[in-house]
Amino acid sequence: MGRNHSHHQAKLPNDSKFARLFLVHFLCLFAPFIFSWGVHCLALVLYVVTGLFGITLSYHRNLAHKSFKLPKWLEYTFAYIGIQALQAVRIFLLMHSTFLVNSVCHVWGHQAWKTGDLSRNNGLIALISFGEGWHNNHHAFQSSARHGLECWQMDMTWYVITFLECIGLAKDLKVPSDLQKQKMLP
Ligand SMILES: [Zn+2]
Ligand SMILES: [Zn+2]
Repeated sequence: MGRNHSHHQAKLPNDSKFARLFLVHFLCLFAPFIFSWGVHCLALVLYVVTGLFGITLSYHRNLAHKSFKLPKWLEYTFAYIGIQALQAVRIFLLMHSTFLVNSVCHVWGHQAWKTGDLSRNNGLIALISFGEGWHNNHHAFQSSARHGLECWQMDMTWYVITFLECIGLAKDLKVPSDLQKQKMLP
């Protein structure tokens, strides 16, 4: 009995540590309901502005893949927003969505093109990552400014890029040709 007791006592601190950890994480689930809507609206706006303009539009499609051209002043402005995003706490959300694109989009989803890798199209991820979830499309046509290639494939970043083209700011938008598409058909 004494042995059992000491064994139990030795385990207790771990159990309570676990319980506390569990409680803290469990409480986090309720955080969205406890915090005010104002804070969340602001966080959402910052997420869209920094994520869409800074990361997907500027860093990824404009700078990394050069899939369209912007006047220098606007290129720098968007890149600056991207830097702000990388420096701030908001990166937390962005990192999670980037992580999701890179992990989920190589495991779950549909392969529309013969890319010879594991990349997939995931509409749910595309929705929260401004179109980056059309990852099989992106692997197939890396220099395309448009990731959601079908009209039903929602791609917020692409909509903004086409708007920028409409008002004369974005130029030379790259999209895959019919021939390029044919070559990639499975
Ligand atoms: Zn890329
Ligand atoms: Zn990938």
